[in-house]
Amino acid sequence: KSSRREQSGGGKHSLSTASHLRRIGVMGGTFDPIHYGHLLAAEEAYFSLGLSEVLFVPTGLPPHKNRQQVSLAEDRYTMTLLATVDNPHFKISRLEIDREGTSHTVDTLREMRHWYPAGSVTFYFITGLDAVLDIHNWKEPEEIVSLCKIVAVSRPGYNPHRLEDLPPSIRRAVIPLEIPHLAISSTEIRRRVGQGRSIRYLTPWPVEHYIYKKALYHRRNGW
Ligand code: ATP
Repeated sequence: KSSRREQSGGGKHSLSTASHLRRIGVMGGTFDPIHYGHLLAAEEAYFSLGLSEVLFVPTGLPPHKNRQQVSLAEDRYTMTLLATVDNPHFKISRLEIDREGTSHTVDTLREMRHWYPAGSVTFYFITGLDAVLDIHNWKEPEEIVSLCKIVAVSRPGYNPHRLEDLPPSIRRAVIPLEIPHLAISSTEIRRRVGQGRSIRYLTPWPVEHYIYKKALYHRRNGW
């Protein structure tokens, strides 16, 4: 119960009466590690769409990645916490981390809907353009767009005009959001750590320190 209360709000932007719609941003990701690309996307969505808060949801085991490829959920959760803790309108949820097995967006949204009184919340699922263009590979895309709006943030290398290729029923739920482009990816950060190169200014320094302290991304091949 207490965790539900914690996740569902009380911040300065939250609205107290049921007649007001809360607009909750949901930023899902593997966050292996979290970096400034993720944080900027969430911050831009928060202000551009007038959101009440942004809830970061690190995935358990993502459907498209296998267990050997992904760092421990607890490490990814801790790094996400370290990166978001100084922002009063960012929150973080253990929902997917604590769930056994593969995480699907549709199941997460279905569960989160029950945290709030019926009809009192609109979810804005914030995700990169690259992921939105791949939405036909997600579980139950039609159901997803009935549960949330999808905020497609621009990402270097992906053409926003390709959104027009989406089926109309999906396209209607997508809000394109142009953000300053940061060509940062978790893959690149892992690769740099493996090569002994600097990752300073790609991710907040507490995350950088955590990576070194826990010796993440060092002993793996292919990164
Ligand atoms: P990886 O390199 O391991 O695939 P990633 O950097 O893409 O990871 P994820 O945790 O998979 O990070 O991404 C979570 C979400 O954030 C995705 O929707 C992704 O499109 C988006 N995202 C990641 N990096 C950026 C960026 N630099 N700019 C905008 N969106 C981004």
